Amino acid sequence: MKPEEGFATRKTLERRVASLNIDPYNRPLACSQCGGVMVFVGVGEYHCEKCGHADYDDYGKVRNYIEKHAGATAAEVEMNTGVSQRSIRNLLKDERIEISQESAAFLRCEICGAQLRSGRFCMKCITENNRRIEAQQRSMKNANKNLSGVSTSRADSQDGAKRFSRS
Ligand SMILES: [Zn+2]
Ligand SMILES: [Zn+2]
Repeated sequence: MKPEEGFATRKTLERRVASLNIDPYNRPLACSQCGGVMVFVGVGEYHCEKCGHADYDDYGKVRNYIEKHAGATAAEVEMNTGVSQRSIRNLLKDERIEISQESAAFLRCEICGAQLRSGRFCMKCITENNRRIEAQQRSMKNANKNLSGVSTSRADSQDGAKRFSRS
């Protein structure tokens, strides 16, 4: 495998992830303790990069609760996690349905096409999506810090260009 091949694949992947708006299940963006950026560590869990505070998105909350309270009803999970029953049903539909090994090729990641046994996206693309959100959070924090009256609005030059290209 040539090294530039891997690089190209990664670039394509980043673009695809950015073009798709993956629902991150209400992931925590800023640390509730110190306001730092929450970094995805896996299966619905996030750690603050500053103070290490752990937090969970809807999937993490539901998963943790079900692990500790086997056989809990959707109503109980909703009451104790604050995640709506409708979201819980969607989570279960997305993540808990596993298909047999023989028919694994039936499910593919909607971004990169990798074979999946459950869900809509592979772990690589989910991680990529979370990294992108974290980068956005960081640049937002930096933009707030450097607020110095610089306008960030971009003039739309497309209309003008179109008008002039007409002959
Ligand atoms: Zn923190
Ligand atoms: Zn993928």
